[in-house]
Amino acid sequence: LSRIALFTSGGDAPGMNAAIRAVTRAAIAANLEVIGIRRGYQGMIEGDFQPLYASDVSGIIHLGGTMLRTARSNAFRTPEGRSRAYEQLKNAAIDAVVVIGGDGSFRGAQEMSQEYPVSFVGIPATIDNDMYGTDYTIGFETALNTVVEAVDKIRDTARSHGRIFFVEVMGREAGQLALHSGIACGAEVILIPESNAEGGKLHDFLKHGYKNKESSGIVIVAEGDESGGAMKIAERVRLDHPELEVRVSILGHIQRGGNPTADDRINATRMGVAAIEALLAGEKNIMIGIARDKIVQVPFKIAVKLCHRIDEQLLDIQRLMNI
Ligand code: ATP
Repeated sequence: LSRIALFTSGGDAPGMNAAIRAVTRAAIAANLEVIGIRRGYQGMIEGDFQPLYASDVSGIIHLGGTMLRTARSNAFRTPEGRSRAYEQLKNAAIDAVVVIGGDGSFRGAQEMSQEYPVSFVGIPATIDNDMYGTDYTIGFETALNTVVEAVDKIRDTARSHGRIFFVEVMGREAGQLALHSGIACGAEVILIPESNAEGGKLHDFLKHGYKNKESSGIVIVAEGDESGGAMKIAERVRLDHPELEVRVSILGHIQRGGNPTADDRINATRMGVAAIEALLAGEKNIMIGIARDKIVQVPFKIAVKLCHRIDEQLLDIQRLMNI
């Protein structure tokens, strides 16, 4: 192994830059040459490559977004696209690649490694925290803190007016951000794709809880919840309960930006170093994770297959706090 490439792919997440820095510097320390691929798989297909030296990754550890940019690529889903991508890697003498992204990005890597002799190691980076086998994905903690800060502000105004707010947070398939932020903000109800029992809790709260407390209500809604999102559920509640003052707030893309928290930076750095160690040890088709504070290696096929988990205990705690 003498030259490796790395890229970021899929949705951006705060802490991706810290991972780029760690991979680059750990590789250089092991006497490897490093090539950065810009714009994910699309850049791989187009040969949008740049050499990375230790100084190129200075001053980025604290920045959100990704200096290599990111993209979604439909072309890479086709055999022709992957064949072009392989030609580009071969021409640049790259046979090992670190992919920083979410489950889709790892599926792409798995697909390509079945067709061509390329070793991929993955670093999980997504604000959804929905990969199996790792307690953390890079960006989740930062996004969680952004949501908590925003909801605290919404709570101030909700209490002042005695209003019920439906706050929509990101998570098309995963309710982790909604569940964790709901607990941290003392939300009265959370609605997440993984559990349909929470609809009944909302009903109870609107009928009894809100009146008893005579205060305010925060309902956190994951965008992928079966209710169809905050806007839709608020419309229905307005029809059923015209006496209540209902408002909606969709937090949107602020959840993806901002400076990564200390833990996101530290985890990104640990995983970046572990990714290079894994490649040097001849590993491939694995995701680096952190479980019980230890670095672990999880085969891609496991990391992506069973990704929609939710901690039932946390869900119970959330319910208990709203008796
Ligand atoms: P996030 O969780 O933030 O959405 P992600 O990595 O899951 O991140 P995706 O858009 O699902 O984001 O995937 C990133 C890219 O990976 C896709 O645009 C596509 O190019 C490639 N990809 C995903 N799935 C496959 C697949 N089954 N085969 C080939 N390529 C794939």
